[in-house]
Amino acid sequence: MSGLNQEDEKILQPKIASREVTTHILKAFGLHMSKKLGQNFLIDAGVVRGIVEAADVQPGDRVLEIGPGIGTLTQGLAEAGAEVHAVELDKKLPAVLKETLAAYDNVTIVPGDILKVDIPEIMGPRPFKVAANLPYYITTPILMALLERHLPITVMVTMVQKEVAERMIAEPGSKTYGALSVAVQYYTEPEIVLNVPPRSFIPAPEVDSVVIACHVRQTPAVQVIDEKMFFRVVKAAFGQRRKTLSNALRGGGFPKEQVRDAMEKAGIDLLRRGETLSLEEFGRLADAFSTL
Ligand code: SAM
Repeated sequence: MSGLNQEDEKILQPKIASREVTTHILKAFGLHMSKKLGQNFLIDAGVVRGIVEAADVQPGDRVLEIGPGIGTLTQGLAEAGAEVHAVELDKKLPAVLKETLAAYDNVTIVPGDILKVDIPEIMGPRPFKVAANLPYYITTPILMALLERHLPITVMVTMVQKEVAERMIAEPGSKTYGALSVAVQYYTEPEIVLNVPPRSFIPAPEVDSVVIACHVRQTPAVQVIDEKMFFRVVKAAFGQRRKTLSNALRGGGFPKEQVRDAMEKAGIDLLRRGETLSLEEFGRLADAFSTL
């Protein structure tokens, strides 16, 4: 027998992702979890591994983490050799992270709000990955902000509420298909990677969770003349779901004649509902508006 090598020692190291270690850290720092900040900390090392694997994190990869909490996922990313930049809003946590992640020199904690910090300044111009157990109260704004800014992201692996993941992958015609489905599928190829039960967190959330990997496309799923117009049309189409598309577009500020002309030009029946349109049809309709 040759005993343990360095790799084995790493595997045996206590991980933050366990009920015992997390409870110990919370107690040691006198931390009370904030519901307002969406704090549900992971205590399942298998899930941390699942996120790291889904992002295919390799030594030297640059990873933006949103909301490191006490460093649970951050530790998994750091052990995989990533250069991690973790943005945390809770002012109490950077001091905690300094201690829980003291063993890693490949982690930078950035105090701040992910919706307000300057991501290009933090990550620089080279491609990077996103990994996060997202705060559920602002999942959609975070995803939209990351997608719309055309950052050089290759993949985003995030923990979201199951119901949000279903909206992200929904197909035209289904009840859950909406503006979020179109935006996610326009920019990325989403794939559900793991189902995560409430018991994988402290405190246990009231909802089921899912890890979803969104592989960012080299070019959007449909080519449009004006992306702003595309999303204006999408937003208007889903603004009033019960109405026909033509009425919803008018409700969204498009003049009546323009709606009629653009729908005719795009070959879309006036009685269709917004939630039945494919990305390709939304693209055609947006281009029709752009070229009226
Ligand atoms: N990554 C940790 C884990 O997996 O256990 C914590 C995840 S917890 C669901 C979400 C984290 O996001 C919390 O640490 C919370 O303080 C932080 N957070 C909430 N809103 C934020 C924001 N706007 N910007 C950055 N971090 C935020």
